[in-house]
Amino acid sequence: MSASADTLQAFLLEEHGIRGRIIQLDASWRAVLDRHDYPPALRDRMGELMAAAALLNATLDYQGSLSLQLQGSGPIHWIVVECSSNYELRATARWSGAVAPGPLNGQIGQGRLIITITPQQGEERYQAIVAAEGGTLAESLHDYFARSEHLHTRLWLSAGADYAAGLLLQQQPDAAQEADHDAWNRMSHLSGTLSGDELKTCSATEIIKRLFHEEDVRVFEPVPVSFRCSCSRERVVNTLRLLGPGEIKPLLEEHGEVTVHCEFCNQRYSFDPVDIEQIFATDLIEPPSKTQH
Ligand SMILES: [Zn+2]
Repeated sequence: MSASADTLQAFLLEEHGIRGRIIQLDASWRAVLDRHDYPPALRDRMGELMAAAALLNATLDYQGSLSLQLQGSGPIHWIVVECSSNYELRATARWSGAVAPGPLNGQIGQGRLIITITPQQGEERYQAIVAAEGGTLAESLHDYFARSEHLHTRLWLSAGADYAAGLLLQQQPDAAQEADHDAWNRMSHLSGTLSGDELKTCSATEIIKRLFHEEDVRVFEPVPVSFRCSCSRERVVNTLRLLGPGEIKPLLEEHGEVTVHCEFCNQRYSFDPVDIEQIFATDLIEPPSKTQH
């Protein structure tokens, strides 16, 4: 575990107008793995997707949440990662049969990557879909950036049982016009020499030093990253209300209780007949005013 685990480290190659981000997940990644058993090959993809979500989040200026969803026809049916604008992450997946190690397209088949950005309020939801038919997740993300941002962007991702990490380089928007292609190529080439092992064991500042020791680098304050699931009993109650008694009461009669399972954090919310009665009864009366107390 590196000293900069569970943080996002931003830096700037000032001379070249290239910004960089390093993400290293440790406890936040283990929190995902503690809640479910995933086949190792799927687990590694999920770790890469989680690192990618945090890196993408770092390129955005917004309040809300971002989701990355890999979907396909192969043994991996889908993997979904959500990252809030303050770097709270959660992830889950569905698969069937054996997931073999190897290129992404062998695991996901006819795949696609769906990027969804949901601002907290005001602005509309943004969604982009790119093919996920190459050997790596990074290829699909490069495709996405080429289409949506029109800025030179490259990512390197790596994950295993005890870490998930990544590096992103992106041309700054104001530097794009007078882009020095040679500098961009050199910086990308240097970054490409970084090994998965270095991403796992070196601190973010060590990585920056190793790669860019000849450059003027400005390093910013690291930002903490954590696992957090946004589910709650209150939210589940709201969902049950939306479904209505016509949907829920037959379930109650069949099972004696209604159980809702959160696939992200594995939390189970159970409602007995009294709970269900209350949930639908409160529909009929005004909520108590908070100012009465
Ligand atoms: Zn949950």
